[in-house]
Formats: sequence, structure tokens, C-alpha cells
Amino acid sequence: MSRLIENLESVQSEIRRVAEIAGNTGVRLLVVSKTMPLKLLQELYDYGIREFGENRIVELESKHSAMPDDVIWHFIGPVQSNKVRKIIKCASVIHSIDSVDKLERFDRIAGEEGVNPDILLEVNISGEASKGGMTPAELPEAALAAAKCSHINFQGLMTMAPLAAEHDELIKIFNTLRELRDNVSRLCGRELPELSMGMSGDFPEAISCGATIVRVGSRIFAGVEK
Ligand SMILES: *Cc1c(COP(=O)(O)O)cnc(C)c1O
Repeated sequence: MSRLIENLESVQSEIRRVAEIAGNTGVRLLVVSKTMPLKLLQELYDYGIREFGENRIVELESKHSAMPDDVIWHFIGPVQSNKVRKIIKCASVIHSIDSVDKLERFDRIAGEEGVNPDILLEVNISGEASKGGMTPAELPEAALAAAKCSHINFQGLMTMAPLAAEHDELIKIFNTLRELRDNVSRLCGRELPELSMGMSGDFPEAISCGATIVRVGSRIFAGVEK
């Protein structure tokens, strides 16, 4: 077995183990393939992986056109307003919407393109300036706006924890995202199933707090020849 598939299986089995302990029955792995060459995505595809996360539009476009049609592409990077149409043409899940302005732009362009992408609102819980996302205080207004959109499907929230955060801080951040999700779900009067949280260094904590999508890159590609 290749190093890549070994790494993948080790991440998958850790996800299953932690999810079972936490009683989290709804978590899935999003393989973050940013910066990785096509041949590695193809190897993962052949193994059965169908969902990939990318954070740059040029790379997303070229991988989208080269990979089979049944791949579900997730856009997880910062969104520039003038790139919304390009993102919508490739990605069916967008994790990183951080303002009402962009939300409305996604909705309008999704309507023009005749597609219905799932969208998540990104929340910056730690307050780190280097991280994207809206503040928790901005979330209710954005959530109400998202719930009113007719072309995009508002599915939940996404966050990134600081890389250096320790266990207790991670638990606090991920629990906060879940509480925010529960609050805006009540506010909007609809279910918001998705919580996109947890990366290579912190997915066990995120799963224990109810993550439904963990976004894992470096653990899967560690030591793999590009
Ligand atoms: C790169 C990236 C990830 C994956 O991070 P790893 O630490 O490599 O697992 C997850 N989410 C976002 C938004 C990213 O940009």
C-alpha cells in the first residue's frame, strides 16, 4: 500500500475511533488537496475519495476540469468578490463566506448560473487577525440574510482554530461554534446541519464537539512524494 493510502486509512480510522467515543455519528472527512498534484488526487479518487477541498481559484479550476465529473469540490479559501462566479462554476460547497455582501453576490450569481451550492458562514471565534471569517456578533444578521437566499443552501458554520491553541482552548472554540450554530438555527427557524471544524492538528477535539466535516490535508500528504 502506498504511503498516501496508509496515511488516509490512519486518519479515517482515527476519525471513526474518536467519533465512536464521542457518539458523533455524522462526521465526514474532507480531503484538503490544495497545493497537491493531480496524480495524488487521482490516486485518492481511485481509492474511493469523492470530496476535495481547495483554497485557490486557479488551482480549483484546473483540478476541476482535469478530474472526473462526480468529484464534489469544496471551496475553503478566502473569497474575493470578483471570483465568485468562478468559484460557483466549480465548487458545490463553499465554506468561507464572511459577509452579507458576498452572500448576496453568491446568491445572485448562483441564480444566473442555475446552480444551488451549499454554503457555510465562516466565523472567527478566536479573534486572530490573520484568520478569515465574521465575528460572532456579525453572525445573526448574516444568518438571517443567508436563510432568505433562494439559490444558495445555507447549511451551517465553519471555523478555524489558532494553530497554537491547546486542548482546552480548542474545546472551547469548537463548542462555541456549535452553540452559535444552535442559536442561529433557532433564529432562522431551520435546521443547520453542518459544522465544518477541525484540521490535521485538531480534528479529534472538533469531532468530540460535534463536527460534521473535518478538513484534513497535511496528515494525509505527510511524507508522500509530490
Ligand atoms: C489548509 C486548510 C486546511 C487543512 O489544514 P491541515 O492542517 O493541512 O490539515 C483546513 N481548512 C482550511 C481552511 C485550510 O486552508
